[in-house]
Amino acid sequence: MAYFAVVYCKTSTTIEHVEHLIKKYVENDATRRKEEASGLFEGDIVIDEDTKRYLLGAQNMPRDAVISPIYYWPRGIVYYTFDANLAPLTVDLIKKGIHHLKKRTCLKFVEIPKNDPNHKSYIKFFSGNGCFSRIGRDPNNIEQKISIGIGCERIGTVVHEIMHALGFFHEHTRPDRDKYIHIDWSNIEQEHAHNFQMYPRSLGSSFGKPYDYDSVMHYSKYAFSKDQRIPTIIPTDEKAVIGQRLGLSYYDREEINSLYHCKEDCVDKLSPYKCIAFRTLGLCSNKLHQQKMIDGCPKSCNFCAMKKLAAKDTSKTIKEIVEIVPVS
Ligand SMILES: [Zn+2]
Repeated sequence: MAYFAVVYCKTSTTIEHVEHLIKKYVENDATRRKEEASGLFEGDIVIDEDTKRYLLGAQNMPRDAVISPIYYWPRGIVYYTFDANLAPLTVDLIKKGIHHLKKRTCLKFVEIPKNDPNHKSYIKFFSGNGCFSRIGRDPNNIEQKISIGIGCERIGTVVHEIMHALGFFHEHTRPDRDKYIHIDWSNIEQEHAHNFQMYPRSLGSSFGKPYDYDSVMHYSKYAFSKDQRIPTIIPTDEKAVIGQRLGLSYYDREEINSLYHCKEDCVDKLSPYKCIAFRTLGLCSNKLHQQKMIDGCPKSCNFCAMKKLAAKDTSKTIKEIVEIVPVS
């Protein structure tokens, strides 16, 4: 988010301008992507026997997310702890990523003390060689690790790795992906080709949600490219931007909420990560854009309580209430 703070002084803020900044930022950031370079399956997935079984033809797996209950976090409670050697700044960043998820889903993240014998199944964040995670909860009820190593210090990367641990795969492995992206196989070394395989999931994957270029789980354009100036993934929609690591997209949040049975009455209608950029650049409290923010980003702009007030007092619109109670 520091990026947006930097550009704030230099620009007038309109929705279109922020969208343009996000696009430029993502395109630039995607060329330095670490989670596609950890040397693991698809760059950042730790393969164990369970995952292997899934990938080697679990034809009956109908969804993007691992659907067996043993892979879920029961009741949406994710226990976690930090490795003692993690730098304080990295711990702080991971906490921000967790907060991002907590605020927009019904997941509960519970920090446990280091070496707590009462918890067997939990995530330990540590700094390994790159960024990586396993898929889903380890069914063996043991500690599982998420690495946020050097070069992985982005909120979106933290969210990406946690989403793997929640049970999600990369967006580009969906079986319907060829309608939305073109893979340039000529620019991919043979040894990396497996990173672009599609999984045997039915069209009912992603809980019926559309293919999501905006997903924090989408590979970037240049993933595993032989020639890093040439993309390996070309969206069929020329305007699409892929590989953002700023935070949850609209459908990322929807899919988590479907998988973990969350019901929320006040959610951002735009991608949460974009809403955060709008908020950071002052659009929530900018009268010119406030109605669009009320409609599109009520959660990130902290309009939810005001929406409730407006529902009780039908004589006032939410915009009027926002004007009475200024956005902090
Ligand atoms: Zn990944």
